[in-house]
Amino acid sequence: MSENKQKTGKKGSGNMDEIAKTIFAPIYPVIAENIIRRFGIKTGICIDLGSGPALLSIAIAEMSDLSVTALDYSNEMHEAASGNIEEAGLSDRITLMCGDVHNIPLDDDYADLIISRGSMFFWDDIHQAFKEIYRILKPGGKTYIGGGFGNKELFESVSAKMIRKNPKWKEFNRKNISEENVTRFKNMLEDIGVPDYEVILGDEGFWIIISKSVPGVL
Ligand code: SAM
Repeated sequence: MSENKQKTGKKGSGNMDEIAKTIFAPIYPVIAENIIRRFGIKTGICIDLGSGPALLSIAIAEMSDLSVTALDYSNEMHEAASGNIEEAGLSDRITLMCGDVHNIPLDDDYADLIISRGSMFFWDDIHQAFKEIYRILKPGGKTYIGGGFGNKELFESVSAKMIRKNPKWKEFNRKNISEENVTRFKNMLEDIGVPDYEVILGDEGFWIIISKSVPGVL
C-alpha cells in the first residue's frame, strides 16, 4: 500500500469531506461550468478520478445529462461520497467505483469525458496513470485533469481561508500549481506519446486537456 493511500484513512476522508462541503464548496459548480463551457460535452459517460467526497461529480451531474462514475481507491472517501450523492438526489446518475488510477477497471475507449481535481498530485506513477487515462478515453473524448479553484476570486478567498487553517497549505499548493509541475507533466505526456494535449496554467488552475482523435478524422 502506498504512503498516500495510508494517509487517506477515516480522519483524512473526514477532513476532506468537511473542507469540500465548507471552504471548497463554491469551487465545484464553477469548475463544472468551466468544463461544460469549454467542451460542450453534456451527454455520455464521465469519469471523475480521485473523486473524494464526489462534489465535482455532483456538480457536473447537476449541470448535464452525463452518467458519472466517481472513482477513488479509498473506501472511507466512498462512505462520505455516498452520503453526499444521496443527499443531492443523484444516486441514479452517479456510480461509485473503487479503483486505482494506475490500473483503471474500465474498458478501452470508454469515457466521453474524464475529469479529476486535486488528485494527480498524489499519484505514485504519473506515466502509468496517464497511459490508463488515455486508454479509457473514447475517440472524440476530452480530459480536464489537474487542480485549481475555478477562477481568481475563488482562488484568493479559498487560499486565505486554507492558510488560516494550515499555514503549510500555501507552499503545498504553490508546488502543485507551478511552472515546474507543468513542465513535469508535459514531459510525461511527451514520453508516453499522447499526440494532442494542452496544459492550462492560469486563473482557472492547472489543467491537462487531452483530446483523443477519431480514427480517420483529422
Ligand atoms: N477530487 C476531490 C475534490 O476535489 O474534492 C478529492 C480531492 S482529494 C485532495 C484527492 C483524492 O484522490 C482522495 O480522495 C484520494 O483518495 C484520491 N486518490 C489519490 N490517489 C489515488 C489513486 N492512485 N487512485 C484513486 N484515487 C486516488
